[in-house]
Amino acid sequence: MFTKLLSLVFALTAVASIHAQENIVEEGHYLFDANKKLIKLIQSQGDLTIDHVGNHGYEVYGPAGVGQWLQNIADQADVAVISLDHEKESKAAKDAFVSYPTPAQIAARLQELQAKHPNIFKLFSIGQSGNGQELYAVKLSDNVHEDELEPEFKYIANMHGDEIVGREMMVLLLEDLTERYAKGESEIKSLIDNTEIYIIPSMNPDGAQSRRRGNARWSDLNRNFPDFTTDNTNRPDGRQPETQAVMAFQAARKFALSANFHGGTECVNYPWDTTGDDFPLLELVKKLSAEYANDVPGMKNSSEFPGGITNGYDWYEVDGGMQDWSYHWHQDLQVTIELSHQKWPNYSTIPQYFKWNKGSMIRYMSRVHQGAGFKFETNKSGRVEIEKLGTFKSINLGEYTFGDGEFYKVLDTGRYRFTVTTSDGEQESFTTKVSTQSGSYTPNFTKL
Ligand SMILES: [Zn+2]
Repeated sequence: MFTKLLSLVFALTAVASIHAQENIVEEGHYLFDANKKLIKLIQSQGDLTIDHVGNHGYEVYGPAGVGQWLQNIADQADVAVISLDHEKESKAAKDAFVSYPTPAQIAARLQELQAKHPNIFKLFSIGQSGNGQELYAVKLSDNVHEDELEPEFKYIANMHGDEIVGREMMVLLLEDLTERYAKGESEIKSLIDNTEIYIIPSMNPDGAQSRRRGNARWSDLNRNFPDFTTDNTNRPDGRQPETQAVMAFQAARKFALSANFHGGTECVNYPWDTTGDDFPLLELVKKLSAEYANDVPGMKNSSEFPGGITNGYDWYEVDGGMQDWSYHWHQDLQVTIELSHQKWPNYSTIPQYFKWNKGSMIRYMSRVHQGAGFKFETNKSGRVEIEKLGTFKSINLGEYTFGDGEFYKVLDTGRYRFTVTTSDGEQESFTTKVSTQSGSYTPNFTKL
């Protein structure tokens, strides 16, 4: 027994040291570990990725050879393991893979939309993937080539290459919104005219092309962002090209609300992921998550996630995820939306997923208007203190920084006092009301 344990420790050290800090995901396995007997041991291997912890077990990803190690610890704990290697799957699953559009075909559909709706649709690239594919982004807004004073919203899908439903949803959503705008549907027109909407259908085209979780370098992009509990620098250097592109894009914009789409189960996961501490706007983020989940049958009726929502850390800890990074460094409130139990379902099921999620996707976008901000006539930077005003007592929501003379934040409904202090010592204060806008949208900025 002791020798067995010793050899386990050796095997474990060998695996754990292959690609320290890299979150390499060359192999995937599913452990039928319903009682989570092995999860702590696996988590203690810093560079192994655990995903989708469920009632029956969970997925584990790691560098080549991790399967043997998992098999060893699983045998000792009497837990079954199966490989998630696509080579070993059924013909039906292999057929489902080839029926999907290629990244080039996705790009062609986006180019077609731009040609059809050039006034509201701008296609551009935020950088290149490891294999040199463009990382396409779409801006959807009126006066699409101008930077107007409107709240900024963002969707990112397919950062895990083998979680494909989000990418398809983004293209269908863009087709749907542009068509309804062209028809003159008033709510859609008001939303697009008064919001700067950015959509990145595939953050990981290399992974999508070969149906794998990681990028071309086998790295897990949702473990590749700066983790604020262990890294206080927010430096992009040394990270994956796709991560660096998103970091630079986000730093150049002022996103106030966003979501990133995944697959493997159905739920909305809200921050934090990396710590059990309460998220600063916990009630708000829970409400927004519940609102999304409530209209999607598979989420609303979930037996695993009450109401279809879960706190990230309560579910399983994720370090280096995009959602925590987004809020910690950029005040961009982000949730993670898991769209489908099957990561790569038969292509024929895609319209059904869109039918289930379309209403929630559009409503969630519109919630960027439940907020308040300000704009200076000239380029100023500084700090802003936000206080929620109440009948009996006010609540201090803390201090935030701003640059380029502009600030905007999604908030719970209510009345707020903003106290703005510029870096040259000027101080201004104003009160503003935040309400749930629907049907028609007005950007809520106070001019200073
Ligand atoms: Zn994922």
